[in-house]
Amino acid sequence: MSISTTYDILIIGSGPAGLSTALHLQQMAPALAQKTLILEKASHPRQKLCGGGVLPDGDIVLRGLGLDISEVPQVTTPWSNFVFEGRGLRMTAPDKSGIAFRLVRRDEFDAWLAGKARVRGIQMRENVTVIEIVAGAENVKVVTSAGDFYARAVVGADGSRGISRRAVVAREAAHSARALEILLPPVAPEKSSHHQDEAYFDFFPIPRGMGGYVWDFPTQVGGALMHCWGVYDANLHPGSAQAKLKDVLAEELTRHGLSLDGVEVQGHPIRWFEPSAPFSAPGIILAGDAAGVDALFGEGIAPALGYGKIAAQALVDAFARQDFRFSTYKKRLLRSELGKSLTWRTRTARLAFGIRNRALQSFTWNRLGLPIRLWVENRLIFWSKRDKTPGS
Ligand SMILES: Cc1cc2nc3c(=O)[nH]c(=O)nc-3n(C[C@H](O)[C@H](O)[C@H](O)COP(=O)(O)OP(=O)(O)OC[C@H]3O[C@@H](n4cnc5c(N)ncnc54)[C@H](O)[C@@H]3O)c2cc1C
Repeated sequence: MSISTTYDILIIGSGPAGLSTALHLQQMAPALAQKTLILEKASHPRQKLCGGGVLPDGDIVLRGLGLDISEVPQVTTPWSNFVFEGRGLRMTAPDKSGIAFRLVRRDEFDAWLAGKARVRGIQMRENVTVIEIVAGAENVKVVTSAGDFYARAVVGADGSRGISRRAVVAREAAHSARALEILLPPVAPEKSSHHQDEAYFDFFPIPRGMGGYVWDFPTQVGGALMHCWGVYDANLHPGSAQAKLKDVLAEELTRHGLSLDGVEVQGHPIRWFEPSAPFSAPGIILAGDAAGVDALFGEGIAPALGYGKIAAQALVDAFARQDFRFSTYKKRLLRSELGKSLTWRTRTARLAFGIRNRALQSFTWNRLGLPIRLWVENRLIFWSKRDKTPGS
């Protein structure tokens, strides 16, 4: 049987951004989805370094696709704690669901989503690495480890380290956060101030020049309760004097009677949303980490799912008008509720991580609970609820 190499649309990457784009296409324009192929360098279930925290926006986007995230193995937390040096704000689910945060493992979540896409007829080729994207006048050539593929439009959903961004922006200033992560068993209650079933974000490293926090999320690995600890630094000013991520994580662990000794520490960048950056080139649009996600927390799963809907809308529009320049993609993105939220998060990160004064940070997290909560609920999260575009 000969395998076709020519499609209407090629999607590079089958993380949440690529899979959501395909699933939204299938919902909005089934004929177009039939002539779409996802190219994925790994095969599901594949490892992806990630805390796996999914906010309610993720549930809402998936519900719009007729999918139920509760099918995925997970731990749910009733409370999230946003603290400075151990004290601060405790927030529950703003939507009264009783679930502040869902914690999935990405190998399981992404494989589940890929399975849903397959069942709905989406074509996917795994173990195919995209090497280069070459946009021509008539189509886009995608050079891969399995030969050349051609399409009218390409979606770059290949993550923070993907190659598709290079086809859109040749050179740019880095907009990438740094994150380290480890997995450890739960702590004995008498050793830690943390409630073991809640999520914690501690912003104590900010006065040391780090734009971020240390996290502690309960999670499950193969059904066993574990804790995912990590450190996030938006890296807003690369090259400036910064605390070392590993030292900061080790310091927090010590406070809970834990240590990094003998623990495998893994790191990965997270590209954050820079509103002035390009997001498309003729024949190519970017989605998810390849385009940029949340600068404030490094939250990218729900945003990647949200990008899928916007990318699918842009594709349907391009095929209707037979115009593949994607010159209005950036405007579409910036005007979307997701785009507005990501823009606010970048601005908030610049402001919040710029406050290096310890007393001011402590005051913010301990005294400004109500304004922070209102800001978060009305500007930073629930973008998917505010989205009234078709396909919701
Ligand atoms: C340590 C860490 C912790 C995090 N914790 C959280 C969290 O708790 N909650 C949250 O919301 N976000 C978190 N994030 C961010 C989140 O993981 C990403 O934002 C999210 O995965 C983005 O999804 P995506 O689909 O854009 O990219 P990805 O999930 O990275 O998927 C990209 C896909 O493209 C494939 N690919 C890459 N290159 C090629 C190629 N050349 N050819 C073919 N295929 C290719 C990859 O194999 C992969 O399957 C975390 C990130 C890190 C690093």
